[in-house]
Amino acid sequence: MMDCALNISSILRRAARVYPEQQIVSRLNDGSIHRYTYTDFCGRVIRLMNALRQLGVEPGDRIGTFAWNSYHHLELYYAVPAVGAILHTINIRQFSDIRAATINHAQDKLIFVDRSLANSLAEISDSIPCVQLFVAMDDLGPAPESTPQPFVQYEELLSTAPETTCFADDDERSAACLCYTSGTTGEPKGVLYSHRSVYLHAMGSCMADSFGLSERSVILPVVPMFHVNAWGLPYAALLTGARLVLPGSHTVGRPLADLMATEKVTFSAGVPTVWTLLIQHLRQHHHDLSSLNTVIVGGSALPVSLIKDYKRDYDVDLIQVWGMTETSPIGTVSRVKTGLASLDADQQLQIRGTQGLPVPGVEIRICDDDGFELPWDGETSGDLQVRGPWVASSYYGETADQSAFTNDGWFKTGDVATVSHLGYMQITDRQKDLIKSRGEWISSVALENAVVAHPDVLEAAVVSRLDDLRGEAPVVFIVLRDPGTPVKPGDVLDLLRQSFERWQIPRPSDVHTIEALPKTGVGKIDKKVLRRQLRSK
Ligand code: ADP
Repeated sequence: MMDCALNISSILRRAARVYPEQQIVSRLNDGSIHRYTYTDFCGRVIRLMNALRQLGVEPGDRIGTFAWNSYHHLELYYAVPAVGAILHTINIRQFSDIRAATINHAQDKLIFVDRSLANSLAEISDSIPCVQLFVAMDDLGPAPESTPQPFVQYEELLSTAPETTCFADDDERSAACLCYTSGTTGEPKGVLYSHRSVYLHAMGSCMADSFGLSERSVILPVVPMFHVNAWGLPYAALLTGARLVLPGSHTVGRPLADLMATEKVTFSAGVPTVWTLLIQHLRQHHHDLSSLNTVIVGGSALPVSLIKDYKRDYDVDLIQVWGMTETSPIGTVSRVKTGLASLDADQQLQIRGTQGLPVPGVEIRICDDDGFELPWDGETSGDLQVRGPWVASSYYGETADQSAFTNDGWFKTGDVATVSHLGYMQITDRQKDLIKSRGEWISSVALENAVVAHPDVLEAAVVSRLDDLRGEAPVVFIVLRDPGTPVKPGDVLDLLRQSFERWQIPRPSDVHTIEALPKTGVGKIDKKVLRRQLRSK
């Protein structure tokens, strides 16, 4: 067989030749819509490649982006890897010291920044000396109070750049992108994706039983392009020839629902919080979301009640996926197999509430503390390990530390899971979030899932506190659906008693109602903050 490189420029070339008329739609900061075709997009990517070269960008250089989901950002997704450089998508919601540490760790040479976000980079520009130049992208946001220096304008660079094509990504194993973990359980760590891994991940995620994408899809990634490459959707969309709708900074409530309705979006993706907030809005305001049929939800556990509500009220399938920055991210997708279609609706919901089946290309196993493989019986839980062509084999800049990898080449995810005999994986916890009470493990995820089934509870989080008698004890935090309808601790405990043993039930004094749960920059519940609050009580 021919040895053709699986690289990002080949996705671009095919997209421009085969779907020249297809559209990329972006909502800008002022709410206006920018629309152009794959042909226009490709022409600008080529000019951007030449502009990067004129700025002295060499293969292997790290080029940072600090931006919303927009066409500018998408152009960088293709141009940077196509000149052989590495796209580092910086998390815009990270605390400024972590942001600076990440930029210094990556040693970014240039940073492309949306005008509306320039202030946040200006405040740390003195502490990131590696950055030689900032490039401002006009997202029609308010003019920044200060701008990181020195800086140039994106459109000025493009206007003088030639249109000659010269791709420099022949080596499919060279690095294309650099993403850092969001740091839910520790310091962010960098993961390098190769051209080959990005390409294979895009192919794997497009498959019918994965995301099920095609040229007929209209894809709106709510998941930010600064978080695990928006789950690979900017590459998967152009690989299939789909219409891509980029929401910019408008990712909640009315603006999101409006964009979905007017662009007739069929497919979307984001963390559970996005969909919890959207359904609250939809309950009070009418939007025509009849074209929306699939929403991929991952990043943290998807409550079964939310799957049920979206299906019943809007005929939308919320499909749970599991993944990590280290797995590019797609590892498993939860779809009900044909053989299970005769189960009743509630049983099918339970299956959809699991994290699902490994996608083609990814292998999973669960192991005990000594590394021995455990059975797939749906009951025995163990450390989840994965391997595959889009799973990391080391952390960026830390190749000597192989503690996250087994001797036989698997990645230790840090998640604890069961796998059923039919292959459905279910996360029971992250190792760091498990609660050890009287020597037995309690799953915080299982408790959370049970608590959010209460009709008046919007969100819940469970963490542990130290307890003289039990070692650790579970503490439940709830956010009310309606602040005027309080939920008594006793009601929560009654609900838990239906499915948990007595020793697993929290004390009434360990059930707290709070206004909002602390979230990380990518919208996950930040249990570090909750634990800290508990310790300071
Ligand atoms: P961080 O590790 O900093 O949170 P990632 O975004 O890489 O950054 O998060 C990966 C982790 O998110 C997984 O290890 C897992 O604990 C959690 N996760 C992802 N998807 C799911 C899911 N569907 N259900 C439960 N947990 C999930």
